[in-house]
Amino acid sequence: MNRFELTIILISVAITLFFSAVIAAAGSLIYGAFWGWFGITFAFQIIGFTIWNSYLLQKDNAIAQQNEVEELRALSNISIKLSCAYCNRPNDIPIQLNRKNTFKCDYCSQVNGVFMQFTSTTLTTPIDSIKLPINETEAL
Ligand SMILES: [Zn+2]
Repeated sequence: MNRFELTIILISVAITLFFSAVIAAAGSLIYGAFWGWFGITFAFQIIGFTIWNSYLLQKDNAIAQQNEVEELRALSNISIKLSCAYCNRPNDIPIQLNRKNTFKCDYCSQVNGVFMQFTSTTLTTPIDSIKLPINETEAL
């Protein structure tokens, strides 16, 4: 816990105590003792803060989970064209990188497996694009 957090906590406690004292002072004028009102007001505030905090935490968790679902959905939106292994006709199929992929051919209804292979390459820059000034490149 750093100095900033400690200051915030101390200020929160001070406000809670002050608010409890104000309610207790007002309440004890009408009925009962100051400390009775003080204790009840203080307890209600603590309960209120606890409920509010757990609500905020759950809201944050829900947002985080929603983001995760959307990321997974974005991954599943990758679509490629593959030829059927049985009839060799092209099919558009959605691909998910995080699971085993299969697809049913639109033409012959056979179920195909998908084998994914990735290859690394060196990055090359065409020499012409470096030599030409920008406006000359646009004219081409
Ligand atoms: Zn097929």
